[in-house]
Amino acid sequence: MLQNIRVVLVGTSHPGNIGGAARAIKTMGLSRLYLVQPEEFPSSVAVARASGATDILDNATVVETLEEALVGCSLVLGTSARDRRIPWPLLDPRECGQRSVEHAAGEGEVAIVFGREYAGLTNEELQRCQFHVHIPSDPQFGSLNLAAAVQVLAYEVRMSWLAAEGMPRKMEKLETTAMLNAQPATMDELELYYAHLEQTLIDIGFLDPQKPRHLMARLRKLYGRSGISKLEMNILRGILTETQKVARDAADKRGDD
Ligand code: SAH
Repeated sequence: MLQNIRVVLVGTSHPGNIGGAARAIKTMGLSRLYLVQPEEFPSSVAVARASGATDILDNATVVETLEEALVGCSLVLGTSARDRRIPWPLLDPRECGQRSVEHAAGEGEVAIVFGREYAGLTNEELQRCQFHVHIPSDPQFGSLNLAAAVQVLAYEVRMSWLAAEGMPRKMEKLETTAMLNAQPATMDELELYYAHLEQTLIDIGFLDPQKPRHLMARLRKLYGRSGISKLEMNILRGILTETQKVARDAADKRGDD
């Protein structure tokens, strides 16, 4: 479905932006790049900035006019750094993503068109687009770098596509150590901890096993409130082990038996 969506860059002057746009496109699962009269292309600068998305550059279609880039498209969305340059149906980036995906799912071809770094799209070019898309940036500093603008809209396309495909928008749960550590400690781990704690408190003379005075019950309540994770449990266990060592060394020095 995503192969029905093309990104069109009009009159790009910096090849680095073409490379950056290629990377933005590929990271979001898009693949089709059209270049209308790029000032410098092919270019080693573009390849460097593409950071491995060279297949997008190699397969890019270079054309002379916007019309050629739009051949076959039945939905054309034109982006503009300026809000409401000409009165026209306007979409926000999210709506742009949704429309593009809906249209592409129905086998229609979609073009998202980006303008020149210094001058954007001309009014004539904007009038060739059914909708205008403005990224709601700070009006005092509203113009994004070209490749950054491509990234924002490609991201929105991807989010809509993932939703349409019923695919997760959060990373699959990887059982990394960090994630395991963040899990709450289990009851049996807590029991081991309480036993360790009790023994340590006895070792350091804080708890008298003959007169425990509900100390362990109170500490259980305290720990029970804090939702200890596995990592935190390991830290606490480590502290207890070190405390026991110090207590033992001190006892050895005193010659206790
Ligand atoms: N001085 C130009 C700036 C163009 S920025 C102007 O005012 O039009 C280059 C391109 O990046 C724009 O043509 C558009 O395609 C995209 N772009 C930059 N900022 C954008 C924004 N806030 N919303 C939508 N597209 C934006």
